Amino acid sequence: MEKIKVKNAFVEIDGDEMTRIVWKMIKERMLDPFLDYRTDYFDLGLENREATGDQVTVDAANAIKKLGVGVKCATITPNDQRMTEYNLTQCWKSPNATLRGILDGTVFRKPIMVSNIKPVIRTWEKPVTVGRHAYGDVYKNQEMKIPGPGKAEIVFTPEIGEPVRGTIHEFTGPGIVQGMHNTEKSIRSFARSCMNYALDEKIDLWFSTKDTISKTYDGFFKAVFEEEFENYKSRFDEAGIKYYYTLIDALVALIVKTKGGVLWACKNYDGDVMSDLVASAYGSLAMMTSVLVSPEGHFEFEAAHGTVTDQYYQHLKGEETSTNSIALIFAWSGGLRKRGEMDNTPEVVAFADKLEAAARETIESGTMTGDLVPIADPNPNNRKVNTGEFVDAVTEKLVSKL
Ligand code: NAP
Ligand code: MG
Repeated sequence: MEKIKVKNAFVEIDGDEMTRIVWKMIKERMLDPFLDYRTDYFDLGLENREATGDQVTVDAANAIKKLGVGVKCATITPNDQRMTEYNLTQCWKSPNATLRGILDGTVFRKPIMVSNIKPVIRTWEKPVTVGRHAYGDVYKNQEMKIPGPGKAEIVFTPEIGEPVRGTIHEFTGPGIVQGMHNTEKSIRSFARSCMNYALDEKIDLWFSTKDTISKTYDGFFKAVFEEEFENYKSRFDEAGIKYYYTLIDALVALIVKTKGGVLWACKNYDGDVMSDLVASAYGSLAMMTSVLVSPEGHFEFEAAHGTVTDQYYQHLKGEETSTNSIALIFAWSGGLRKRGEMDNTPEVVAFADKLEAAARETIESGTMTGDLVPIADPNPNNRKVNTGEFVDAVTEKLVSKL
């Protein structure tokens, strides 16, 4: 068979631990034999981040800006324990935070659905994708304990002009206060990223805040979305999709009664909470994909899960592992599909579709990794396979489709 040619290069970001091992298996067994492709490769394994003073992470982000598409393996975010384990000179920042910062992107998490794992919400036939604004609010707040009676104020001191103040509360006893912020630039980027993603996936966009209570703060989010939507309206009409705004409590009540198939845009805290709720309702973190979309339309695809450290230590001890590779496979298929769409090469898009179908059908036929056995519909065909056996089973199905 002649290899399918991927016209333009894209960015490949390697990572750590168990996912680094699986990443290599996917490339060697599922891609290299069938695809003629070039990547701009960045090794974000923790050793190389240390060796380059984390410059490699910055370079990778800039390369995605240049090539438009990237695929990323999971990476360790160092903490004190990792500092010792890897002999680090610095506790390097989370690579994902660096990438998000440089690409100014929004993260969208979408579950991979298979017919033999039912979401807890029985009506969800299609994925509910959560788009989380990843800047500001309580994640960059200033907070204080109030020891006793007194007045708490909010003060803005402009570069030119007189300070503006507002009373938060006249305390008669002890309490707490919190101040938070967001920027117009970041909210606009968030809105545009969500609208680009909805267009890309051809799904309705739902946005929710609590603007009846927070008239200025949440009201501003709502207003910015409405303004940005003016520039997207005709494209949404053309795609046959809708933008819908409602209060978050109304949306929560509504979403559990839909069939899914929507993008739910969430403010930072709402997205933190709701993305975990949605992930768990769909079954497993190992079945969740993640894509970072910049307002300029650059895409970085990855799995939502981490480096699966527990199983990596088992692997180092020579024990058998059963790591689920489906979200990493979908990171590759997502990147390849996007590359194919941008290059106008339908054969590459078709390869991505076949790869995803092969992975889904493998699980649907009962061949699955250990994490899925307890949540799959009981069936005599169900069997737990190890990390490599699962990759081989998917590859075998893929070959039958090519
Ligand atoms: P994790 O690697 O996602 O693993 C959490 C648990 O979820 C695992 O112990 C495993 O459960 C299960 N799991 C996750 N993915 C799985 C898969 N593909 N197959 C089978 N089981 C899977 O998260 P973590 O243990 O909190 O973090 C480990 C490292 O990953 C940390 O260094 C963290 O910084 C990093 N991390 C990176 C990213 C990223 O790059 N995007 C995201 C999150 C975390 P069992 O224990 O039951 O096997
Ligand atoms: Mg969280």
